[in-house]
Amino acid sequence: MLELRPNCECCDRDLPPDSADARICTYECTFCADCVDHVLNGVCPNCAGNLVRRPIRPPQMLAKAPASTRRVLAAAGCGARRAA
Ligand SMILES: [Zn+2]
Ligand SMILES: [Zn+2]
Repeated sequence: MLELRPNCECCDRDLPPDSADARICTYECTFCADCVDHVLNGVCPNCAGNLVRRPIRPPQMLAKAPASTRRVLAAAGCGARRAA
């Protein structure tokens, strides 16, 4: 089951479980669409895997299986890639 992490690992933007802007890799590294398109070029910086749109968990299932509240943030950010 997906953790549904609450934020973008690059820019720390909030990505609620119903966000259409959340992108994940196979390890569920989580990023926003903006960072994926303009900073990461569709590639996860942690595992080099591809990033896809995170599926939306229906609200009735979220009640039973709540989204993660543990924020994961890249220690160095993704700024180096943005500058490159
Ligand atoms: Zn972001
Ligand atoms: Zn990854």
